[in-house]
Amino acid sequence: MTATAQDADAPAAAHFRFFALEVLRTRRLGHSFLRVTFGGESLADFRSGGYDQSLSLFLPPPGHEHTVLPSTDEDTWFGAWRGMPDEERPVMRSYTVREQRRTDGGVDEVDIDFVLHGDTSPASHWAGRAVTGRRIMAIGPAVAENKSVRFQPPAATDAIWMYADETALPAAAAILDRLDAGTRVRAWFEVPHEDDRLDLPTLADADITWIVRAGAGRERTEQVLEALRSGEPASAEAPYAWLAGEAGTVRAVRRHFVQERSVDRRAVRFTGYWRLGASEEELLAEAYAGQAPSEDPASEL
Ligand SMILES: Cc1cc2nc3c(=O)[nH]c(=O)nc-3n(C[C@H](O)[C@H](O)[C@H](O)COP(=O)(O)OP(=O)(O)OC[C@H]3O[C@@H](n4cnc5c(N)ncnc54)[C@H](O)[C@@H]3O)c2cc1C
Repeated sequence: MTATAQDADAPAAAHFRFFALEVLRTRRLGHSFLRVTFGGESLADFRSGGYDQSLSLFLPPPGHEHTVLPSTDEDTWFGAWRGMPDEERPVMRSYTVREQRRTDGGVDEVDIDFVLHGDTSPASHWAGRAVTGRRIMAIGPAVAENKSVRFQPPAATDAIWMYADETALPAAAAILDRLDAGTRVRAWFEVPHEDDRLDLPTLADADITWIVRAGAGRERTEQVLEALRSGEPASAEAPYAWLAGEAGTVRAVRRHFVQERSVDRRAVRFTGYWRLGASEEELLAEAYAGQAPSEDPASEL
């Protein structure tokens, strides 16, 4: 589950539970991506729904090797976690289950692809130093059909249109993994570096445009909009658009699809995965204060 303000008030749904994860290995995928493969006995009960399945990670605070939570009871964990002294409280962050599998040897594994975006942000910092044996905690799916799978195209969908920046590329890749042969996909993926244009195996009939970022802020959004405008998506009667990435850019891309391409707004699934200049704590604080209009505290759309 990506923990939300609603989750704070209500007991965590039975669809989600705590899992103890241990780093098995890491692998660099591209300039900005590090894959961390986790194992752990509790993963035997982990049930990813695939697609853009997300989960909440609890990472150790500075100076601590492993994550320790005072409670993993669904009724009390949130208060216990929030009540910890700042310097001891594990950092909660949203990530995507890139893949779940059971190896031939019967070991349950989960891959998470972290964007390394600098050393001062807790999750990026942690991932950059992840070594075998480090233990963290997660709240993740215990049933495959759960609300943290946001990719839900209506049955009549005849084409999928996608926009993702690097933080949402793991989710986009996992979606492409699962699509049926021949599904028509038009996708725009924005990455910081040429080496981040990863191979994305899929049976779908996918036409992908890579956008290698050239600027920051407004310039960055303009570059994305320019790419969208110059690449006409194949015609479709009932397209479904899935958009995820930096909140300001996602908002602009959504406007583009709804206003310039007349896509039914109900057929657009959009999620801010992060927001320029705001940590996930700040986004959550806004959600608790009722300032974030979206269903998702990581989204200010
Ligand atoms: C549902 C969901 C799924 C996600 N899946 C993934 C995933 O699979 N892989 C992944 O890498 N991220 C993913 N994210 C995004 C990730 O949660 C954020 O990037 C998060 O802010 C990272 O935490 P941090 O501690 O590194 O940075 P924070 O402490 O949250 O932020 C510190 C500063 O860094 C900035 N920042 C945050 N992320 C980035 C970035 N990528 N590039 C540049 N600046 C940034 C913030 O604006 C802030 O100014 C997902 C988010 C959501 C909501």
